[in-house]
Amino acid sequence: MKKISKIVLASGNAGKVREINKLFAESGIEVLPQSDFDVPDVAETGTTFVENAIIKARHAAEHTGLPAIADDSGIEVDALDARPGVWSARYAGENASDEDNNNLMLKELEGVPEAERTARYQCLIVFMRHHTDPVPLISQGSWEGRILEAPRGDGGFGYDPIFYVPTHDCSGGELPLEEKNKISHRAIALQGILKQFREHGYL
Ligand code: IMP
Repeated sequence: MKKISKIVLASGNAGKVREINKLFAESGIEVLPQSDFDVPDVAETGTTFVENAIIKARHAAEHTGLPAIADDSGIEVDALDARPGVWSARYAGENASDEDNNNLMLKELEGVPEAERTARYQCLIVFMRHHTDPVPLISQGSWEGRILEAPRGDGGFGYDPIFYVPTHDCSGGELPLEEKNKISHRAIALQGILKQFREHGYL
């Protein structure tokens, strides 16, 4: 099977690009962000993470002619009936900042006791060899925690400052990137994709 040396990453989110690059560092595969190729944004019209990841990977592969990897991720909060889910980036509105999203979540959870603030990050990673690839590789990862009552730490991105990590007794914003990259939803999903790469002889 043909080895893969270069992949375009269908994301413009600097936090994700940083995490995914670190995780791929030892694979020998060069991962280039789609911004290097001026790939325009595509509408994420799916109602599932996997649909959105396929839309993004197909779009990046079509524009660059390279194999593409895309991640679609979000957070599910049990007390909010699994919202915001696939709408996590747009929870407080179309152009919401991370801070807007975190503030809205804290507001919606006002008065909810600690035991009922359980939540999890979900991540779906998709790899497509080309834009018409009929058998995308798919891998899923999740990460359990709960929503704090106020932000803590300024590392990570998105909901990390209000996401409590029970295994490390700190927030996602206080967790060093090396640690996050061992346990996060994205780390687990990426390890699954790398395993499939090895099985297919791509590495
Ligand atoms: P996507 O870019 O459409 O996949 O949107 C994912 C959104 O989910 C991000 O904008 C964040 O709000 C949230 N999210 C996903 N992964 C993480 C993470 O590792 N930390 C914090 N927030 C995350």
